[in-house]
Amino acid sequence: MSEITVILPEREGKKFAGDASVADALAELLSNKQRKQTVAVAVGETLVDLSTRLDSLGQETLEMRPVLISSDEGLDILRHSTAHLMAKAVLDLYGPGVKVAIGPSIEDGFYYDFERETPFTPEDFKSIEAKMQETVKHGLPFTRKVLSKTAAIDLFAEKGEHYKVELLKEIEADTVSLYQLDDFVDLCRGPHVPNSSWLQVFKLIKVAGAYWRGDEHNQMLQRLYGTAFDDKKRLKKYLNDLEEAKKRDHRKLGKELGLFTISDQVGPGLILWQPKGALLRRLIEDYWKEEHYRHDYELLYTPHIARLDLWKTSGHLDFYSENMYSSMAIDEVQYQLKPMNCPFHIAIYKSQMRSYREFPLRWCELGTVYRYERTGVLHGLLRVRGFTQDDAHVFCRPDQLEEEIFNILDLNLNILATFGFDQYDIYLSTRPDKYVGSEEHWQKATDALKQALEKRGLAYQIDPGEGVFYGPKIDIKIKDVLGRSWQCSTIQVDFNLPERFEVSYIGEDGKEHQPIMIHRALMGSLERFIGVLIENYAGAFPIWLAPVQARIMNITDAQGDYCDKVYQELRGSGVRIEKDLRNEKLNYKIREAQLAKIPYMLVIGEREAESGTVTVRERSGKNLPPMSVKDFAAKIKDECAAVLG
Ligand SMILES: [Zn+2]
Ligand SMILES: [Zn+2]
Repeated sequence: MSEITVILPEREGKKFAGDASVADALAELLSNKQRKQTVAVAVGETLVDLSTRLDSLGQETLEMRPVLISSDEGLDILRHSTAHLMAKAVLDLYGPGVKVAIGPSIEDGFYYDFERETPFTPEDFKSIEAKMQETVKHGLPFTRKVLSKTAAIDLFAEKGEHYKVELLKEIEADTVSLYQLDDFVDLCRGPHVPNSSWLQVFKLIKVAGAYWRGDEHNQMLQRLYGTAFDDKKRLKKYLNDLEEAKKRDHRKLGKELGLFTISDQVGPGLILWQPKGALLRRLIEDYWKEEHYRHDYELLYTPHIARLDLWKTSGHLDFYSENMYSSMAIDEVQYQLKPMNCPFHIAIYKSQMRSYREFPLRWCELGTVYRYERTGVLHGLLRVRGFTQDDAHVFCRPDQLEEEIFNILDLNLNILATFGFDQYDIYLSTRPDKYVGSEEHWQKATDALKQALEKRGLAYQIDPGEGVFYGPKIDIKIKDVLGRSWQCSTIQVDFNLPERFEVSYIGEDGKEHQPIMIHRALMGSLERFIGVLIENYAGAFPIWLAPVQARIMNITDAQGDYCDKVYQELRGSGVRIEKDLRNEKLNYKIREAQLAKIPYMLVIGEREAESGTVTVRERSGKNLPPMSVKDFAAKIKDECAAVLG
């Protein structure tokens, strides 16, 4: 057996016998401490187990990169291995009646899908975790075996694991790899941790229904979710964040704060805004419209349906039909509920002859669109079937492109900052394999996007080939207080629609030219953005967004008239105010106002009524000295102005 040279990053190579394992090589090349942290290695793009024989990798010189258990790649291996561990425990406990489906790692954890008649309960979670710990204690190895596909099918068929058989039948290769942990064998590509003693820190999180392969015509399975970490502190932090996220769930808060509701009678994925939610939405819309007006945008309104032919011309019928609802006949002509606003803005553009002098045209609309989403993926305000995009289209000349993109980016980030979002991940997506438009146009547009990002001093990542077929784009994911990312803004250059609709303008040379069209959504949709806002602020909105800024509460009935007077005065000066004059104990009223997350409580007793003041209590519980009603109104105004300018 010839020798194989193993090279680690920034180190001298060393020769090993071909039948040595990766672990053997690392034992000599790494310190003990480093070795204990290394869960697998990367050879080129491929991650391999530590038990892999060097000569099986087919190279005389192996450049290896150790994968640390604490890294994202390492955690992924750890979590995926824990999914095996969990499946073994479930089979050990609940026996042959349970069938296993798939068990991948996911962001923050892993899951495994089981077919089992009895639902899993929280008590089951404890038993499963205890069973998993037993296997951890025994330090059992994950052993890799390569079998012919037919032998693997026989093996799983014999165990009655028909989901595995179905998966195997679709694999094209002749051989497949299996991994064995004690008596549990799974079809898997690997790699895994060397043995179960690596899997000390895990937790089962929840169970949910999931159709086999996500298809509602298939068997409903039980998906057990869990997570695993390389150390206890990280798990603890994760579980705390999860608790915090649960408290912030916008569906729960939306109900408690009376913001929105969804009615089965109306239909899933269709949002009904309750008065407080509607007020919150109006505040956002008003601010949005004013900001756009200030930045030289003009506001448009367009209808919700259009002739089906419009969507043929736009290409949506060919490329987007799975997201569109069925058409309807009006006077024997087919019409279509709109999934996008763009073709309407183009129709407005084309309503008259355009000259280069008019450019740039900056048109915005809060346009409500309807898109099909499967019932299973609908989620509160975040995934819905009808939503209002904060849309804008800019038509400009090629020489204006860079400046326009910079302006859009600048406006976007300023508006996001007003809402409290100043952390984001930015992605620039470039030309995919299938595209329309010339290579030269793509290059120019991509450069313009890049330059705008650089001019604004923004770090970004390039997503090669991830642009839409019609042009490159910038996506902005905002980060909330828990560090979670939310896709909101997108800026897209489009060479396709102007071409399809034969959009043109008369240039300085008196000839017809095709303008550049930029699509932009800042919040994405009002529904989704408000969902994110609710979770970010846990419903305790900043003063400029709070649907109710203050609530008046009396100590005894004797102050009723004075409370009414204060209420009228504040409402008259534009403060969003409520009153609670019920015959209840003050502490009870305060507690309710706190639960309603109202920024200020105005407590009125005998003293306040006599001196014509209010005692102000903050949401945090802090008391301010009594002040006149006028001063309180001015304070609210100042606090809003500090944000809105
Ligand atoms: Zn696996
Ligand atoms: Zn558009």
